[in-house]
Amino acid sequence: MATEANILHADLDAFYASVEQLLNPDLRGKPIAVGGGVVLAASYEAKAFGVKGGMAGRKARELCPHLIFVGGNFGEYQRLGDAAIAVLNDFTPLVERISIDEAFADVTGCTHLFGSPIDIATEIRRRVRDQLGLPISVGVARTKHLAKIASQVAKPDGLVAVDPSHELEFLHPLPVGMMWGVGPVTETKLHAQAILTIGDLAQAPGGSLERLLGPAAGEKLAALAWNRDKREIRTQHRARSAGAQSALGRKPATEAVYKPVLPHLADRVASRLRAKARAGRTITVRVRFADMRSITRSVTLDVPIATTTTLAEIAEELVRSALADHPCERVITLVAVSVSHLREQAAIQLDLPLGLGDEKNRPGTRQGIARFSADRAIDAVRARFGRDAVGYAIAQLDRARSVPDAFRELAEKDLGERDV
Ligand SMILES: [Mg+2]
Repeated sequence: MATEANILHADLDAFYASVEQLLNPDLRGKPIAVGGGVVLAASYEAKAFGVKGGMAGRKARELCPHLIFVGGNFGEYQRLGDAAIAVLNDFTPLVERISIDEAFADVTGCTHLFGSPIDIATEIRRRVRDQLGLPISVGVARTKHLAKIASQVAKPDGLVAVDPSHELEFLHPLPVGMMWGVGPVTETKLHAQAILTIGDLAQAPGGSLERLLGPAAGEKLAALAWNRDKREIRTQHRARSAGAQSALGRKPATEAVYKPVLPHLADRVASRLRAKARAGRTITVRVRFADMRSITRSVTLDVPIATTTTLAEIAEELVRSALADHPCERVITLVAVSVSHLREQAAIQLDLPLGLGDEKNRPGTRQGIARFSADRAIDAVRARFGRDAVGYAIAQLDRARSVPDAFRELAEKDLGERDV
């Protein structure tokens, strides 16, 4: 195992919101949220009011009445995210991108060229700021888990390097909720056992975590609490995804057409993910126009989701954004939803109802848990009685439409649907 702190974790700060403030100077210094029905990202000015990614837009407006919602320039996010990762690649080929705005890099082999890992991290931050105009925080440590925690501690716009001889002094006082993989439910369980810090977790009696969280998750967390993490930088990401699409025939490119279809597609995708104990961070939608040309929009969340209603809401935001960028297209012929950047969902990860595990005291959490519980209940009924035994009430997502109409349309869509 490495004895030096050669792993960097670089993470753009409030990425989508920072890009919006970069593109539109009027938004700088103001509380903004990307999204609408669901907040996809919040600026630091909005975070100060408690607004967080994954929160319902309504809730966010309650917390911050002068919050400015912006639509989202997804093409620019992709371009600037790629450009930031390319800066890491200027230093080392050992880069593992884990989302649109976040990557690990192993700089073991390039310190003779560029100086110490801290020098390299400093230079990366400077270049991303100078070339792209965006703030990026970097953690430097001996393991991936510790580097990721260090970059969180460094935020906003900072650099934290953890000296290998003082790792546990750094790690153990931190709140247990900062651990990679501890979501709100796990955190609540740990708090109930008076495990408040990562140090408390490290000192938990043998077997107690396994009993509390399940054998795999308990063992994994105990190891991470002692900074035992042998994972190496994986430059090859296996491209895995789950998706479903619905051929519409020729339909007007209106909300009334796509909105009822998306919960159904989201249900197919999310239930399949749950059945395989997986969840994914990147949600992509594809819309095909009359001339067979397709456009896609995607968004990458902080942590994976496998929740039907959340997936449906995010997909709806993305389709709305895609169509808004193509106002001349009057006809759509297909919509598709897919989820990628899949991860194994150990029991511990199932605690991340909205995919927002690293957020503490998030007001939307209870709703997220309720949603996830509803998903589990529906999965269980279907396992016994078949897939059609129970479904999601679309009225919940779209009060304006009558349920019978929506279901009739879905029944028609089913004929043209296939999994992709
Ligand atoms: Mg980020």
